[in-house]
Amino acid sequence: MSYGGGYGGGYGGGGGGYSGGGGGWGGDDRMGHLGNGLRSVDWSAHKLAPFEKNFYVEDKRISSRSDKEIEEFRRAKEMKVQGRNVPRPVSSFEEIGFPEYIMATIRAQGFSAPTPIQCQAWPMALSGRDVVAISQTGSGKTISFALPAMLHINAQPLLAPGDGPIALILAPTRELAVQIQQECTKFGSNSKIRNTAIYGGAPKGPQIRDLQRGVEIVIATPGRLIDMLESQKTNLRRITYLVMDEADRMLDMGFEPQIRKIVAQIRPDRQTLMFSATWPKDVQKLANDFLKDFIQVNIGSTELTANHNIQQIVEVCSDFEKRSKLIKHLDQISQENAKVLIFVGTKRVADDITKYLRQDGWPALAIHGDKEQRERDWVLGEFKAGRSPILIATDVASRGLGMFLFSVASATTYLQYDFGRSEECPS
Ligand code: ADP
Ligand code: MG
Repeated sequence: MSYGGGYGGGYGGGGGGYSGGGGGWGGDDRMGHLGNGLRSVDWSAHKLAPFEKNFYVEDKRISSRSDKEIEEFRRAKEMKVQGRNVPRPVSSFEEIGFPEYIMATIRAQGFSAPTPIQCQAWPMALSGRDVVAISQTGSGKTISFALPAMLHINAQPLLAPGDGPIALILAPTRELAVQIQQECTKFGSNSKIRNTAIYGGAPKGPQIRDLQRGVEIVIATPGRLIDMLESQKTNLRRITYLVMDEADRMLDMGFEPQIRKIVAQIRPDRQTLMFSATWPKDVQKLANDFLKDFIQVNIGSTELTANHNIQQIVEVCSDFEKRSKLIKHLDQISQENAKVLIFVGTKRVADDITKYLRQDGWPALAIHGDKEQRERDWVLGEFKAGRSPILIATDVASRGLGMFLFSVASATTYLQYDFGRSEECPS
């Protein structure tokens, strides 16, 4: 037992009796796996070995700036900060003082400057503080937490046989876990930092082998990680750097109970970072429960605002009138030769409406979580190519549409067919 003489015995363990199961949508992550086989840990009974988490030395160029300059910089980047003793933002890669093994990879990527979230989140994370960072999708959040993770790991004692990871990154989906893993591999390989991604809907064998070989970073979706913990394929005894990425989406997908189970297995004096594109009440509550004396940065507006390039028309009507109103809109839109994306609340309604429209002669196809990936890809292809210009989608399917929507947005009309609660989004 290496771990600096910390808490050895009596932790977690036992459990057993876990019966697998789960199943359901796109893998095993959304159902069950609540971790009933995980014993909660009485942290007051453990003597925790201290660990290093503050690596930040402010560059002279930053120290020499006036408060007014810093304020001006933050205003220009639409940056708002909150909390006690928030470090100043950096304005270049050089100012952050990353070691050469990271700088070399940044140069290889051809990045010219840090993004706004990186300018502020790096000094925050490297100071060892608990951090909340809110910034829109595509703004560079991944390396905002992944690069400080590398420095954190390199400052810890080496893994001994049987040790679990040092950094844990929780993410809502397999796709996201794999993306984060790719960044960690890119930036970690120079210093031999190993990682693995643990997610549902894929065979466990290779994941278990990675875990047992020893990895410094685990990127995981909550359900599969609990599965691995219950079956004792890994443990969280050495986690001192915890990231919750896309916290808003994890809550939307109903992962809160799993997240709580997992976090309860991690020493309470860890460094915790939460990244999210939005900052709704439930994410705020999660931050307040799991982060201590945290500092926060928001990039852009803190309000959820409507896009002003989009004309929004709200029609209030009875259930009974919905279909005829829909047809009226489709008649109008079809004359403009545009594509139509119709969002509905449930898979059942998606199928019903599709059938109804097709019987009426409309070229409509549906996309939702019960459809296999292959079918979803095909439906998207038909829609994109214009062969089937009407697409009916549930909101979970719409997330997968994300990138694709950017490419068709200008020619598309969106209709929200009903505002009922979505069955694909337990929360
Ligand atoms: P987010 O997690 O905020 O959605 P990502 O971390 O996935 O965003 O980054 C989006 C893209 O931007 C990725 O392709 C990433 O390589 C790239 N990127 C990250 N940082 C920079 C930077 N400083 N300059 C240019 N591109 C960057
Ligand atoms: Mg991201």
